[in-house]
Amino acid sequence: MTAATTLNQVKHVYSTGRTRSVAWRLSQLAGLQQLLEDHTDYIEAALYQDLGKNGFEAWVSEIGQVMAEIKWLRKHTASWAKPQRVRTPLALWPAKSMIEHEPRGTVLVISPWNYPVMLGLSPLAGAVAAGNAVVLKPSEIGTAVESVLAELIPQYMDPHAIRVVTGGPDVVHEMIEAKPDYVFFTGSSKVGSIIATACAERLIEYTLELGGQSPAYVHDDADIDTAAARLVWGKFLNAGQTCVAPNHIYVHEDIADRLTGAIVDEIQSQYGADPAISRDYPRMITVEHATTVADQLNASAGTITHGGTVNTAQHYIAPTVVTDVADDDALMSSEIFGPILPIIPVTGAQDAVDRISRLEDPLAFYLFTESRSVKDYVLPRVVAGGVGINVPLMQLATPHMPFGGVGTSGHGSYHGVWSLRTFSQERAVLDKATTPDTLRLVMHPAPAWANWA
Ligand code: NAD
Repeated sequence: MTAATTLNQVKHVYSTGRTRSVAWRLSQLAGLQQLLEDHTDYIEAALYQDLGKNGFEAWVSEIGQVMAEIKWLRKHTASWAKPQRVRTPLALWPAKSMIEHEPRGTVLVISPWNYPVMLGLSPLAGAVAAGNAVVLKPSEIGTAVESVLAELIPQYMDPHAIRVVTGGPDVVHEMIEAKPDYVFFTGSSKVGSIIATACAERLIEYTLELGGQSPAYVHDDADIDTAAARLVWGKFLNAGQTCVAPNHIYVHEDIADRLTGAIVDEIQSQYGADPAISRDYPRMITVEHATTVADQLNASAGTITHGGTVNTAQHYIAPTVVTDVADDDALMSSEIFGPILPIIPVTGAQDAVDRISRLEDPLAFYLFTESRSVKDYVLPRVVAGGVGINVPLMQLATPHMPFGGVGTSGHGSYHGVWSLRTFSQERAVLDKATTPDTLRLVMHPAPAWANWA
């Protein structure tokens, strides 16, 4: 069966109204939660096979996150599905005004390989909670997780209204040509622009969750040891293949050496003297991805201060710290999607802000400081999809805040109520009484007193 046929079948199922009831939505969310509970080990094994991600990391950064999202959605779906009564202006009386949260229809979710469970299932959960039918297209690059999702989802969720289609770019385009009602894309900015163009040509609405060079700035009053520990964790989680990982660090020149030393110490304490034998250190997804990152490192004129060991055949790149990195260095030319951490001294907050403003819009910005005035100076001057103060990554680990980019790092957001909003159309419904017929007051002919010239 072609991907377009699958999409058309799902559109037909949506048109029957089957996905709209709150009971259906809640049963799908319960099914997805059950899938995760029943098959935690199986999913973790697939993540290990694709990325060398161990069970602890798989739970903390993927399965546990989706669970939290599903639990939030199960609590709030029923009230979201109810129309919301709002005020009616006097001029429209007598009437009732409602905002209905209509499902978008058939949603195409396209996900990447780096957090394939979280970034596939979290949008899926949001879309079904809002009453949509869904086609999920996982990344074809993480083959183990792709086949686990294709195998398990039909066993736990409505197999007619929720389908998994496997394959690469061809099936994406085939399905967009078949006109889903909404496209939710997570991936690179380059492909995001291709998706946006394909959607725009057909006037399909979409969300883009993209990447970018998310910077960190460590001010001279930061708690250096805590900053180092947290930055090492955020950068080298998933071997640096994290959309919101700190891409590089700007650090106040007065503490640059101390921070660099603390980061090297932390790498050793989190991953041991040889990360290649650490059971906690993941691998690059493919030889090609490892080679791309290794090439970027080789092309850099910076100094490898720590790490630098590469074994592309084993998908291995050691946690690597690079100093003496100029603005036009190869490592600064695009997002580093791997475990290479440039550390760049700056003269202070203003210098950091100036450099950040020359980057494309980042998905995240991380500020390490103990001072209110530094926060007040820096935050209004920096564009970013989200901000972590004294912590990386965790701004997305909550259903109470939107997760999304800005400009080149994405359009739109999700998580919690923002998922329900993204996957719903807010439809205005005005219900006007027929008597008294006050609309006559604005009908032609214009009354004599209006005296139009
Ligand atoms: P990618 O853009 O190469 O692929 C993402 C999806 O798009 C996959 O399902 C793939 O099959 C499909 N695809 C690839 N090329 C396509 C094309 N030409 N036409 C149509 N579809 C195509 O991204 P990736 O390599 O899987 O993931 C890494 C990127 O994703 C990084 O840039 C990272 O920053 C970004 N990312 C963003 C987020 C976020 O939440 N904002 C999360 C994870 C990753």
